[in-house]
Amino acid sequence: MLLSRHFSLSEMTRSVKAAQLGIQNEPATVEIGNLRTLCNSLLDPLRDALGTAIKVNSGYRCPELNRRIGGSASSQHIQGMAADIQCPGMSTMQLFQRIVEFDLPFDQMIYEAASRTAQWVHISYDPAHNRSDLRLAKFGPDGKPQSYPPISRLEALALVDPTPLRGALEYLELGDEPGLDEEVAWEGRAEMDGRRERVDAMERRHR
Ligand SMILES: [Zn+2]
Repeated sequence: MLLSRHFSLSEMTRSVKAAQLGIQNEPATVEIGNLRTLCNSLLDPLRDALGTAIKVNSGYRCPELNRRIGGSASSQHIQGMAADIQCPGMSTMQLFQRIVEFDLPFDQMIYEAASRTAQWVHISYDPAHNRSDLRLAKFGPDGKPQSYPPISRLEALALVDPTPLRGALEYLELGDEPGLDEEVAWEGRAEMDGRRERVDAMERRHR
């Protein structure tokens, strides 16, 4: 089933980890609606602007899959609002900076570089409120992200590509977003209240 001009439901729900763990990674109607919005409002325009294919490594994550890979309980992947993308032929920093330049609406975008070869861009779209929140994932010695300091648009555009790789990129399917508490610590409480309410409602629905 196509969700948008360029993206299908199977592409947005495929998960190597879910297959390995025997988890049915199937979104319900609400999450499919969010995936549709993510694809139509963000990924399609991005694909058109880039003029080249986008590889989606992980989109929707059911709560069980998210828990097993160590994702935050407030992960936007659970809501069908986030995707981890790479662009063949482009370094991850290039992709990250192009998206900043394109001025597309997004809620949160994180540059994720676990190693020279394992890199991706985490990007989300929230139909209720897009914050244009930019962050850099800082990976620890265990190979997992430890913090997600926010950066400004100008800081993002001034970053120097640490690993200007143009070959094949790897992908690590793991928790790759700050939890709400970490976001609140960085940004102050008021801005997060709306999202916290929606996450609470979502958790009640899944209980
Ligand atoms: Zn992600």
